[in-house]
Order: sequence, then structure tokens, then C-alpha cells
Amino acid sequence: MAYEEVNLNDMKYDLELEAFTYECPCGDLFQITMEELEAGEEIAYCPSCSLVVMVEYGQSELVKAQERIRSADKLESVVPPAGAKAIAA
Ligand SMILES: [Zn+2]
Repeated sequence: MAYEEVNLNDMKYDLELEAFTYECPCGDLFQITMEELEAGEEIAYCPSCSLVVMVEYGQSELVKAQERIRSADKLESVVPPAGAKAIAA
């Protein structure tokens, strides 16, 4: 039995888990990866309990999800290392 139906757009992308997540009532997170979504998987599992959520998505949500992963990666890599100096050309 699925706990809830969640639109992929309402899930948060977690950079550390590398998965789309949604809050589970147990306090942990339902998780589903981009690879699983691309494979047609629709169930996000919570690693701490037996609940699952049905993830609703179509092609447009998948495209948006890929963009969100790209921008999340960018946000992380855009932080310059401490002490880095720009070199004048
Ligand atoms: Zn749970």
C-alpha cells in the first residue's frame, strides 16, 4: 500500500543522497534516484520503515528533474576553494 502519491516536482533533490526525496512520517526520507525514474520506476522507498510513495511523473517532469540535478551540481561546484584568487588575464 502506497502512503501517498507525490508529484516528482514536489520532491526535493538531495545532493548527498543523489536522489529525489520526500518526507516520510517516520522522520526519514522516501528516496528515488534519477536512474530509477529513467527506468520507469514509480515507487520511492523509505529506508527506515515499510512505507512507500507513488511518484507521479511524465516526460516533462523527467526533463525538469534532470535540469534540477544539473543546477544542484552547479550550485555545489560554484563555491570557490578557500584562498583561491582570480588570475588576471
Ligand atoms: Zn519511513
